[in-house]
Amino acid sequence: MSDSVVRTRVAPSPTGEMHVGSLSIVLKNYAYAKRHHGQFVLRIEDTDQTREVPGAQEQIISILDKFHLPADEGPIVGGPFAPYVQSQRLEIYRLHAQQLIEKGQAYYCFCSKDRLEKLRDQQRADHSPPKYDRLCRNLSPQEVKSKLDKEQPYVIRLKVPDHQKVSFTDLIRGQIEFDSDQVDDQVLIKSDGFPTYHLAVVVDDHLMQISHVMRGEEWISSTPKHILLYQAFNWPLPVYAHIPIYLNPNGKGKMSKRHGTVSVGSFLDQGYLPEALLNFLMILGWATNDEREILTLDEYILEFNPQDISQKTVVFDLKKLQWLNGIYIRNLTNKDLISKLKPFVPTDFPSQFLPQVLPLIKERLVVLSDFEDLTAFIYRPIEINQKDLLKKSSANQVAEQLDQLISTLSSLSAQNWLTLQLEEKIRNLQEKQNWSKGQFFMMVRVAITGQTQTPPLFETMAVIGHDLTLSRLNQALLTTKKVT
Ligand code: GLU
Repeated sequence: MSDSVVRTRVAPSPTGEMHVGSLSIVLKNYAYAKRHHGQFVLRIEDTDQTREVPGAQEQIISILDKFHLPADEGPIVGGPFAPYVQSQRLEIYRLHAQQLIEKGQAYYCFCSKDRLEKLRDQQRADHSPPKYDRLCRNLSPQEVKSKLDKEQPYVIRLKVPDHQKVSFTDLIRGQIEFDSDQVDDQVLIKSDGFPTYHLAVVVDDHLMQISHVMRGEEWISSTPKHILLYQAFNWPLPVYAHIPIYLNPNGKGKMSKRHGTVSVGSFLDQGYLPEALLNFLMILGWATNDEREILTLDEYILEFNPQDISQKTVVFDLKKLQWLNGIYIRNLTNKDLISKLKPFVPTDFPSQFLPQVLPLIKERLVVLSDFEDLTAFIYRPIEINQKDLLKKSSANQVAEQLDQLISTLSSLSAQNWLTLQLEEKIRNLQEKQNWSKGQFFMMVRVAITGQTQTPPLFETMAVIGHDLTLSRLNQALLTTKKVT
């Protein structure tokens, strides 16, 4: 296929928050179109109005923006095949369904809900697959006309041919074959005049000249329906690639809300950087030739080929995402990091400390929302656990150490309260007294922060400042004396 004809699309339904799986599909369609200097189209599939969630369409567009994956054509930017919102294209679908009726490829069905339900019940009882029994397929033109004249409600169904092989080549899975006998005479136009997904997707992909349909593997079972429709219209098929779904981080089952975060919005809310999340989605189930794991969008575009996507379902490896996010955070300049941290800095954080605090925690931030936990000990009251404080020592010994530390540090003025000076004084004391390094420094860490794991001790003391450090050492001294 020549470069100029590659046109990909995503066709989300605005039925809720965007799932990371959908973002991954966006990424692949975007990259493939760009690689071949083609166009990437966004089409909103909102024909099931009962499931529509207000604001979802705007959210989809804003996510494409945030991740720098803008559509070349779509509801906002427009394009040669506008409108790109299906509810604004109802007439187009009706005309196409009409065409199929005229060609003898589709028919009116006047069966009532009640009849269809009874049919279904019977099929259930017989353990046969749910299928329309084609009662209306054999109505004479006169019967149809008289029912239409009487304005009897109807749907339009596809005349599915008998005993035909329906096959297509999937870029990822190779040849896939179905038997037309397994396919229902599907509804194309519903009784409310709206098209079904199947009709609308085929008509739009054809009219919008989509060359490659890359979508989630959950749509494989719909593909024979689509192919039968292409055949009924006598249209050429697009190239298909059905992309494997993600499994929950624990490896069990399709990635779902019940097992943790799934929506793109909630990953952003936790402080995953868009670049890190995209990089992660790039390497999930696909690898570059040299298997490098850190890559930019431009590098991905140069190499991405849907044929190389693994056929297997992939586990959404949260640990790897966290690792990547940490790397992207550390690659930010402090200025950029400060600006990205803004929404995550609690209102009671003394913001003048931010430049000083940042270097202390940059190494330890996995997601931006860790900021609060990593810094709370600096500006909120701490609680000291006596057990931690007295670890590998005794109450008397620790009290003695704290006493001496307090008097050593009291001689240091607030102006000289700097990392190097603090380090020198405290190390001298420890060496002079020959206290165990491990025990002593851990005890000081607990006394000053209430935690056993913190940023480097002397830098931390410098940030916390003269007064607060001394008051915490005194608080710790009292803790040694507390009877538990
Ligand atoms: N509207 C479908 C969805 O919500 C699109 C499926 C397709 O890409 O054909 O995912």
